[in-house]
Amino acid sequence: MFVEPSPNTNKSSDKKGQIEVICGSMFSGKTEELIRRLNRARIARLKVEIFKPSIDKRYHEHDVVSHNENSIRSTPVQFAGDILLLAGDCDVVGIDEAQFFDLDLINVVQKLANQGKRVILAGLDMDFEGKPFEPMPQLMAMAEYVTKVHAICMKCGSLAAFSLRLSSSMDKVVLGEKEAYEARCRKCFLEDKK
Ligand SMILES: [Zn+2]
Repeated sequence: MFVEPSPNTNKSSDKKGQIEVICGSMFSGKTEELIRRLNRARIARLKVEIFKPSIDKRYHEHDVVSHNENSIRSTPVQFAGDILLLAGDCDVVGIDEAQFFDLDLINVVQKLANQGKRVILAGLDMDFEGKPFEPMPQLMAMAEYVTKVHAICMKCGSLAAFSLRLSSSMDKVVLGEKEAYEARCRKCFLEDKK
């Protein structure tokens, strides 16, 4: 479990910024972990802002909603650059579904952290073919802290790092994940991949 290295209530102008990445497959609890960290920042009376790509319309337009329905208010944005404009004077910036943002997210996140903000990103590290999902690899390389969370293989019960797409669509972005995907371990992913 991630424990903040130096929790404090100073304003962002007094602090060193940092980047944290929470990555993993579908059903791995990425958003739950993001929400946990953001709630802890709020308890520390830090100013928190949360963003998600407006492409993700699965649930409520203005909420980051995880699968256990433990939700937190968020702002949907179309482009990564919008986050720079909207982050303002907040201390902590949360970004959900980071893999759906454009590559400009890399520069945006770096700028926010260099301003002294704590930036926490959650996103899919691999697509449905098991390939790295841009821009997550670059974000993971730049981050001070990377946490990989795992799902449970829905076929054999092992730890799972892969997202198996059940439909035959080749579109990289398919939302409505509960019906369209299942978590798989490496062995079962290779067996079941179409
Ligand atoms: Zn398995």
